[in-house]
Amino acid sequence: MTRIDDLPIRDELRGKSPYGAPQLDVPVQLNTNENPYPLPEPLVERIAERVREAARGLNRYPDREAVELRTRLAAYLTRTTGHPVEVGQVWAANGSNEVIQQLLQAFGGPGRTALGFEPSYSMHSLISRGTGTTWISGPRDADFTVDVEAARAAIAEHRPHVVFVTSPNNPTGTAVDADTVLSLYEAAQAARPSLFVVDEAYVEFSHRPSLLPLLAGRPNLVLSRTMSKAFGAAGLRLGYLAADPAVVDAVRLVRLPYHLSSVTQATALAALEHTDTLLKYVEQLKAERDRLVTGLRSAGYEVTDSDANFVQFGRFEDSHAAWQTILGHGVLVRDNGVPGWLRVSAGTPAENDAFLDAVRAIKKEL
Ligand SMILES: *Cc1c(COP(=O)(O)O)cnc(C)c1O
Repeated sequence: MTRIDDLPIRDELRGKSPYGAPQLDVPVQLNTNENPYPLPEPLVERIAERVREAARGLNRYPDREAVELRTRLAAYLTRTTGHPVEVGQVWAANGSNEVIQQLLQAFGGPGRTALGFEPSYSMHSLISRGTGTTWISGPRDADFTVDVEAARAAIAEHRPHVVFVTSPNNPTGTAVDADTVLSLYEAAQAARPSLFVVDEAYVEFSHRPSLLPLLAGRPNLVLSRTMSKAFGAAGLRLGYLAADPAVVDAVRLVRLPYHLSSVTQATALAALEHTDTLLKYVEQLKAERDRLVTGLRSAGYEVTDSDANFVQFGRFEDSHAAWQTILGHGVLVRDNGVPGWLRVSAGTPAENDAFLDAVRAIKKEL
């Protein structure tokens, strides 16, 4: 049997395994920060209608510029932040992972570096690797906050071409305040002109507002967003960015033509028509997240303060063994490889009850 390493594959991919949380068939799945609720029936109907319409035109390529969709996304950002956003400032792709890949293709690449503060979203380092960008792991404090001085020192030392800040951070849940982001942005620009990406995948769950107002006058700042989390549409694969229009022009140089299919654009437009219905789950999930925090603490666990739709909890001598034990109770959580800690997504009240029952039970077993 031929193995990957028998192929003439790039050296930096030898011996590596693909990214992905285990997709196990378990009664309670709280491992990938999805919305636990299926899409509401009126929205399902609207998607079917819009996709039927799009299907008739599938003999043609889709709108390469996705103008209607980007206009609707700009309107959503304008409405939720109170700051006017133009269509030219918004770009969309198949998940924010593709947005990040396009950014790294344009601003990273061979001979260039990207830096993020770890533990954080592992796709930032993986997409860096995939695009030939050298990854640099920046520091985080023991309580998982970003220490401004240590972070500025790391930026000054490594002079990265791309900087990632995830707020709220995954897997820790920690949000970063605007002053910290500004201070890091300035340190990065002082080191060299560089692209500064704030990954706001979970911002709708945060008590801190979006950093969108900071875009004005900062052409090297980019906000990355997604419909996978707050919109509860992970299966749709729709991510977007907001930045100076010049950043959007730069991404056009590397994007595949017609990267967003007509079906994806039609589905996303239908979902955006139902924004208010979809976002109504956010408040419910925040309340459930807070209930998880309280329940875990009263069961004797340590919990990292969370601004997202998930909670990091511990500490375990052997977090992988703890993950396995919780799985034995029918609950799938996430082992992100942070020593001593696991992550649980906020599910439905019944799912969260099952999780809390499981962690109370294993506290006795462990
Ligand atoms: C889930 C997540 C994303 C979303 O990726 P999509 O490709 O849009 O599904 C992006 N960033 C972070 C930090 C995430 O946790």
